[in-house]
Amino acid sequence: MAEKARLKQENLWLRERLETLLEAARDNERKLDRLTALEMRLLTADGLVGILTLLLEDFPREYGLDHVGLALHDPDGLISGILDIASCPRETWSLKLLSAAEGLDRLEELYLGEYASCPEPWCFEGGEALGSVAVLPVQRTGRYLGVLALGSRCAVRYREGMDTYLLRRLAAMVAICIENALAAWRLRELGVTDALTGVRNRRFFDLRLREEMIRVVRERQSLACLFVDIDHFKAVNDRYGHGVGDQVIATVADRLGRHLRGSDLLARYGGEEFVMLLPGLDRREVRVVAERVRQVVCGGAVEVDGYALPVTVSIGAAHWPAQRLAMQPMDAAARDLLREADDALLLAKEGGRNRVVMAGLPPPDGMSLELLPLGL
Ligand code: GH3
Ligand code: MG
Ligand code: MG
Repeated sequence: MAEKARLKQENLWLRERLETLLEAARDNERKLDRLTALEMRLLTADGLVGILTLLLEDFPREYGLDHVGLALHDPDGLISGILDIASCPRETWSLKLLSAAEGLDRLEELYLGEYASCPEPWCFEGGEALGSVAVLPVQRTGRYLGVLALGSRCAVRYREGMDTYLLRRLAAMVAICIENALAAWRLRELGVTDALTGVRNRRFFDLRLREEMIRVVRERQSLACLFVDIDHFKAVNDRYGHGVGDQVIATVADRLGRHLRGSDLLARYGGEEFVMLLPGLDRREVRVVAERVRQVVCGGAVEVDGYALPVTVSIGAAHWPAQRLAMQPMDAAARDLLREADDALLLAKEGGRNRVVMAGLPPPDGMSLELLPLGL
C-alpha cells in the first residue's frame, strides 16, 4: 500500500516536472519565433537608419526593455556621416560612435547579470535605475563592430547561468546587418562619386536634378543651375602633362565645394566641367553666389609639383522659378534648364572667360506676373 502511494506520488511529481519542462520549451519556442521575426525585420530594414530605428526604438518597446543602447566603432566617420545626412532622431537614441576600438576589444565575452557589477557601465549612460543587464559584443569575423547593451529594471531578467543562445544569435545578426548596410552604402557611394575629385558624378546629378525639380515645384521655390568650366585647361595638360592637369581639376573641385550649403549640389559633369544646383535663391543671390565661386577658384594659384598655376573658370547660370519648371514635362524642363546654363557658359567663354553670365533677362523693375491660386 505504501509502495502504491509512493509510486503515485512519484508519478504526480514527474507529471508536474514534465509540465514545467513543456511550458519552458513552449516559452523558448515562442522566444525563438519572436527573435526570428525580429531578425527578418532587421534583414529587410531600410539601410543603417532602418536597422538603428528597429534596434533602438521598436525593440525596447516590443520587448519591454528599459534600456537598449548601441556603441559602434566608427573609425572613419562613415556611420556619423550617414546619420548626418539622414533625417533620424539620433539625439534620442542611446547610440555612441567610437573613433577608436578602445574599450570594445576588452569585451571578448558577453556579460549577463546585475547592473551594479557590470564591468562596462559606460554602455548604459543614464541607466542608474537598472537592475540587470546584458552586454553583447557585436563582432564579425574577429573584428569588433561594437556593443549592444540591454538593460531591465527587473533584477533577474538577465542572470548568470542563463542560456545565451538567443542573445548571441541576436548580436550576430546585428553585426551582419550593420556590416551589410555599411557595405551597401560604400558601394552606392562608389557608383555616384567621381573618383578623381570625390564630388558627385554625372549619374548622381541627373538623378538628383529630377528630384530637386519635383521638390522645388512642390515648395514653390526656384532652382539655379551653374555650369563651371576651367579656362584654357588644354594648355595645362599640354604644358605640364595629364597628371598635373588631374590635380588642377581636383583642386578646383575642392574650391568649388567650399561655400556650398547642405541643399546645394556640386557634381563633375565631365572633363574639366562642373555643374552646380542651387535651390531656393532669387536671381540676384544666384549671381552673387556664382561670382563668389568664380573668385574663390581664381583666388590663388594651384600649387602642383613645384609649379604655381593660375586657374580661372567661366560660369554660365540659369535661374528658373518653380512656375517655369512646372510648365513643361520634367525631362523637357531639365533639358532646357541645362541648355540655358550651357549657352550662358558659351557666352562667358566668348566674352573673354573668367566671368559669370546669367541666362535670360530679369523682369523689368516693378513688373510681376502672378496668377493667384484658386481656393477650393
Ligand atoms: P576653354 O577655355 O574654352 O574651356 O578651353 P579648354 O582648353 O579648357 O577646353 P577644351 O574643351 O578645348 O579642353 C578641355 C581639356 O580637358 C581637353 C581634355 O583633354 C582635358 N580633360 C578632360 N578630362 C580630363 C581629365 O580627367 N584629366 C585631365 N588631365 N584632362 C582632362
Ligand atoms: Mg575648359
Ligand atoms: Mg570644357
